[in-house]
Amino acid sequence: MTQIKQEPKKEQSEIQPKKEEQEEQEEQEQTEEEMEYEIEQIDLMFPNAQFTVAISIKELDDIITDKNYIIIKQAYNCYCYSDCKRNTEYFYIQGKNITNKYVIERLIECGLDLDCNHMFVEGFCQTIGSDCQFEICVGS
Ligand SMILES: [Zn+2]
Repeated sequence: MTQIKQEPKKEQSEIQPKKEEQEEQEEQEQTEEEMEYEIEQIDLMFPNAQFTVAISIKELDDIITDKNYIIIKQAYNCYCYSDCKRNTEYFYIQGKNITNKYVIERLIECGLDLDCNHMFVEGFCQTIGSDCQFEICVGS
């Protein structure tokens, strides 16, 4: 028996042009269009808000506490109120799943209005030293 040795065919080496420009697309980065779309979606979610929700759709479902109630303190202590003081308000919010979205919906129901340069609600930060009190993080 003769063994037929099959020599592997030599592949022609193709000269591939090197891609100098590598597309560096990070998954988390949004294009401007996507961001605009998201802002639109958020506006549609909260049509009655007297403030601007600056929390991403993804973060809206984040649970901010495992407690079943929180108190939101809004002190109105930014410079916009230096001439006409506005009393601190407290919003008591109860629920089983207190997410960012849930808090926003309750604040809208309670009539929270941020009528100053700081109307962009970016989230809720727990007050240091308190279990259940949160403050609104705002940006301008
Ligand atoms: Zn302000």
